[in-house]
Amino acid sequence: MTEVMERPQQDKAGATQDFDVLIVGAGISGIGSAYHLKTQNPDKSFAILEAKDDIGGTWHTHKYPGVRSDSDLYTFGYRFKPWIGPPIATAEEIRKYLRDVLAENDLGSAIRFGTLITRCSWSTAEKLWTVETKRADGSAGPTYRANFLWMCQGYYDHNNPYLPDWPGMGDYKGKLIHAQLWDENIDYAGKEVVVIGSGATAATVIPVLADKAKHVTMLQRSPTYFYCYPNRSDLADKLREIGVDEDTVHRVVRLDYLHNLKMLDHRARAEPDLVFEELKELIRQYAGPDFEFEPHFTPRYRPWQQRLAFIPDGDMFERIRDGKVTAITDTIDHFTAGGIKLGSGDELKADIVMAATGFKLLMMGGIEFQVDGKTIDWSEKATYRGMMFEGVPNMVWVFGYFRAAWTLRVDLLGDFVCRVLRHMDEKGASEVNIVIPPALAGETLQPWIEDDNFNPSYLVRDMDKLPKRLGEQPEWRHTQDYWREAVDFPAINLDGEEFAYS
Ligand SMILES: Cc1cc2nc3c(=O)[nH]c(=O)nc-3n(C[C@H](O)[C@H](O)[C@H](O)COP(=O)(O)OP(=O)(O)OC[C@H]3O[C@@H](n4cnc5c(N)ncnc54)[C@H](O)[C@@H]3O)c2cc1C
Repeated sequence: MTEVMERPQQDKAGATQDFDVLIVGAGISGIGSAYHLKTQNPDKSFAILEAKDDIGGTWHTHKYPGVRSDSDLYTFGYRFKPWIGPPIATAEEIRKYLRDVLAENDLGSAIRFGTLITRCSWSTAEKLWTVETKRADGSAGPTYRANFLWMCQGYYDHNNPYLPDWPGMGDYKGKLIHAQLWDENIDYAGKEVVVIGSGATAATVIPVLADKAKHVTMLQRSPTYFYCYPNRSDLADKLREIGVDEDTVHRVVRLDYLHNLKMLDHRARAEPDLVFEELKELIRQYAGPDFEFEPHFTPRYRPWQQRLAFIPDGDMFERIRDGKVTAITDTIDHFTAGGIKLGSGDELKADIVMAATGFKLLMMGGIEFQVDGKTIDWSEKATYRGMMFEGVPNMVWVFGYFRAAWTLRVDLLGDFVCRVLRHMDEKGASEVNIVIPPALAGETLQPWIEDDNFNPSYLVRDMDKLPKRLGEQPEWRHTQDYWREAVDFPAINLDGEEFAYS
């Protein structure tokens, strides 16, 4: 296993490079997709175009203290590469895992770093996507052409996070920084810190900050559900102890996590109050038996409507128990020179304010798309299974799961795309289009996801920018249901009426 990646090649600006397939993004989706393409369709030439100067995507962008997954790596890792560490992993451990996948499969040289894609244009006459790029300094990069685009650019803006425009921000004399832009040189030792937000990022960063800061306040608009559990898998430990090989450990423990997650998802809908009581009991193990859940830890939504924030070893609640962290539920009226004036009239003093306020959704990595000269407005497009789009040929978008690990869908879509590419070759086709069957022609386009299914703020805020679902059939929406798709996707009839080849 090599840790240092082979130095990738750079294509010349002004030159045109041709490939069968272009993969956009070298995050966990792009690297997994490249693995599937290389192993399942070894005859296809491909490159991975990546705007940044390193791999990892989310796990490269985020550098706040303690940054880690909140999914277990048995399911957030790929199905083909065993995970060997504790279930919850740091960003660095995830990047090492990805570097190992690249090295073991000789994929590193396929990546073109520092290559920001600005426009993708499909020509029906040529059956090609033309992909225009820029270098990091803004100068023109090479142009690429490919028959198929595999979009793994994620769903948010890596450079501009979501920072509300609070009144008086300019008056604040301390350090105000968004978690996504955290600078590793910020010294928070002995400082009074306020973290705005209560999602997974806040829960991750707060215990780490609290270990050095004077005190940390978690300022939230509304509470979140937290799931506290030790960062270990007893099953994995037992299987290893009795000598089971790592491939089998990975497969079995992955199934175990999937089973438990399915049960939790089912129970969260069927008996949400009981599930909440169980979550409280887990929290008490770290926060103490008399921990008060009202008002700061009693959410207004149901446990399945947003991702549960996983807290390995209950670290945030231990810090709350020890008085190093305080939670406050309030609104921000305005910033003052020394901190934040709250809606309640109280004032929070802060040397440092970290906004863990989430992402700005960015459709298709901010890339302009054209089909035969006509610019695509994604908000008018119907999606086929949350991965392809009516009227956009030869393109797949890897949009993972929110309630289960994102990457489960990378493997499913990997199999699907490779099957589509083989099917096209068998048919002698160079174009595949998604067609809305006549029976659905009268259906109206609906928001990407229903409000009562899954409603985190970053989706609700920008839902109008996302493509649309068509009716209620699973074929015409992103169901967010791994278990259904794990059965349905391998059985998709590629000659069904939704697919048109030429
Ligand atoms: C802090 C944080 C923690 C998370 N934790 C979890 C978790 O525990 N479990 C989970 O399931 N999900 C989690 N998520 C969601 C997470 O984004 C995904 O799980 C996953 O990492 C996304 O991978 P990706 O490769 O699809 O996209 P990204 O990680 O967003 O990577 C996309 C890549 O594409 C590149 N790119 C984008 N646009 C362009 C362009 N125009 N030209 C060239 N390159 C481009 C980007 O530079 C980036 O490298 C988390 C998200 C965040 C922000």
